[in-house]
Amino acid sequence: MSHVFPRHNLSAPPKAVRGEGCYLYDEAGKQYFDGSGGAAVSCLGHGDPEIIQAIQDQAAQLAYAHTGFFTSAPAEELADLLISEAPGDLDRVYFVSGGSEAVESALKLARQYFLEIGQPQRRHIIARRQSYHGNTLGALATGGNAWRRAQFEPILMDVSHVAPCYEYVDRRSDESPFDYGQRVAQELEDEILRLGEDSVIAFVAEPVVGATMGAVPAVDGYFKRIREICDRYGVLLILDEVMCGMGRVGHLFACDAEGVAPDILCIAKGLGAGYQPIGAMLCSSRIYDAISAGSGFFQHGHTYLGHPVACATSLAVLKALKDRNLIPRVREQGEKLDMALRDRFGQHPHIGDIRGRGLFRGMEFVRDRDGKTPFAPSDNVAARFKKAAFEAGLVCYPMSGTRDGNLGDHVLLAPPFIISDDQIEEVVDKLETAVQAVV
Ligand code: PLP
Repeated sequence: MSHVFPRHNLSAPPKAVRGEGCYLYDEAGKQYFDGSGGAAVSCLGHGDPEIIQAIQDQAAQLAYAHTGFFTSAPAEELADLLISEAPGDLDRVYFVSGGSEAVESALKLARQYFLEIGQPQRRHIIARRQSYHGNTLGALATGGNAWRRAQFEPILMDVSHVAPCYEYVDRRSDESPFDYGQRVAQELEDEILRLGEDSVIAFVAEPVVGATMGAVPAVDGYFKRIREICDRYGVLLILDEVMCGMGRVGHLFACDAEGVAPDILCIAKGLGAGYQPIGAMLCSSRIYDAISAGSGFFQHGHTYLGHPVACATSLAVLKALKDRNLIPRVREQGEKLDMALRDRFGQHPHIGDIRGRGLFRGMEFVRDRDGKTPFAPSDNVAARFKKAAFEAGLVCYPMSGTRDGNLGDHVLLAPPFIISDDQIEEVVDKLETAVQAVV
């Protein structure tokens, strides 16, 4: 019997023993194409010698020094590098170990900021339905995924949820995409006014929604309108780029494509590319200075903040993105993947939408295309798809929105940035095998 507490107890997963490029291998020697980079993590692929070398060098030099006493060269350099590319006035970086920690840090920082500037009455967080911001209690409360929240509702903090920007499902036929975006953004202003115009701390959103909707970008103008609303009421905009950031959508920061800069930005996943667990929260000096001038320190912290080996790994990852010109490649290969998906599945009776940006792509399954009717929860489409794809040797990320108010099933693709043209065909072939088996 395995003593590892499994993620899902439905069946014993195979033991992964090796990774190379875009492939993973289990102990029986079966090869899997890592079509979702795990969960949009492995952006460089597996077994990258430069990253491995950086880990070894840093571990030999300095593996750990508690940030209550020390800073370290890799943390300093990584912060400088991130800030040199960061949008707007973001110029401080708080390193954590993953996405949920980045979101928790952002929520607490936002609340503490308003205490420091004498606005203790601000106590509400607003986020969006069908969002995912992590599994720790604050991040879980912020997320709008009903299924993930259900068991913990009684112990979750109170967060308001407004509409996501989900054009395929929600845009009316008499509305332009732009008007649709303005209409759903208006829900934020309405909610701020309902709660009290000086009582909201922050609005939290993913620029391109990953886990709960399957690579859904907002329509043009939506985030600009969100930014205006936040500014009008002094509400902080927290963008969660844990999944869609670090080059995944063809820009180092996903919000660059929106022309909008947040007050606080959360990143993780691709930051460590799966070689080390690391996340970060970036904030502006306005926020940082208010805290330094006030109580003097952010009342938060974890043991592994700014871990030197994790930071050195991320430095090597960012260097690889730049030296190997990978972000333009994400845009190029992303377009090819999109075209290949459309060629193969564009007319499929049970695939209603193909969408995404860069190498962050999704397909939504429907019972019928015209009515966009989702499958029933009992059809179990996402779970069956995951199994069929895995059997065909493809790791992808199917999620069932049917658990979230019967909103549909989708599959998310987030392959390594090194994916070749032939490998795009390989992914689409394997997807087709799974599609044929399931819908
Ligand atoms: N935020 C977003 C947008 C995510 O997609 C995730 C994970 O999928 C998280 C936060 C939580 O990250 P982690 O699983 O590293 O805690």
